[in-house]
Amino acid sequence: YKVKYAPYKREDNANLGLIVVLQDITNEHKLDMMRKEFVANVSHELKTPITTIKSYSETLLESSLEEEEVNHFISIINRENNRMERIVADLLQLSNIDYGNSNWHIEEIDTYSAIGETLESLSLLIDEKNLSIKLDIPMDIKDIFADKHALNQILMNIISNAVKYSNADGKINISATSNHFNVNIKVQDNGIGIPEEDLNRIFERFYRVEKSRSRSMGGTGLGLSIAKELIDAMGGDIKIQSQLKEGTTVTLTFKAA
Ligand code: ADP
Repeated sequence: YKVKYAPYKREDNANLGLIVVLQDITNEHKLDMMRKEFVANVSHELKTPITTIKSYSETLLESSLEEEEVNHFISIINRENNRMERIVADLLQLSNIDYGNSNWHIEEIDTYSAIGETLESLSLLIDEKNLSIKLDIPMDIKDIFADKHALNQILMNIISNAVKYSNADGKINISATSNHFNVNIKVQDNGIGIPEEDLNRIFERFYRVEKSRSRSMGGTGLGLSIAKELIDAMGGDIKIQSQLKEGTTVTLTFKAA
């Protein structure tokens, strides 16, 4: 609590007592802490690629290396640069959601095609890990009422996580159902799962269960928070259930057209 007080006086200045104001600053304090933590996270996430790029480019400039080494160093610089690009693109997207600048165009989108397009973009990764994908979408599924770009991004973030955090030869089930009001999409993997103690923090910006594992897969730790913020802004819902080493199920709810 923040405490403010002032003497309480009568018109002739005689003291009657004290006026005490107790202000609950817990929320204010919490927000302040979150802001600080966010800035610290952004700085840290960008510092790593910057340091790597700096040291590799300095070595390239200062020493005469074999062509093979030169190429290796350049590919590292390129990879780290791509990582920074992804982080900044994700941050810009979050900031656009924060400021409500998303310029949405809400339209009717075919549920089957939206899922199909996402899977197509991920087909290389899916083949690499030899994952089997099972789709369970009824013929009479309703269209989704959403912004196409936002919907694609949500599906991409969720389905790419299922792919990233699956083991080789894993199985991913994607099912959809609809009623008069909503279209529900369930993405279920039998991958590494999420420990129970991490589940309620998983939607926080930059939160990851295993930093190094996420990084090595190109993750920024922002994918789930972007998905949640987009879906909240569209009046939908996202739920995640998981069992460590058993797998994860994400359920998305959209408005039906
Ligand atoms: P990242 O870019 O690291 O994948 P996300 O915000 O998309 O960031 O996810 C946050 C963290 O949640 C991930 O680092 C990972 O630890 C965990 N996670 C998300 N989806 C899954 C999943 N399907 N299976 C296991 N862990 C997951």
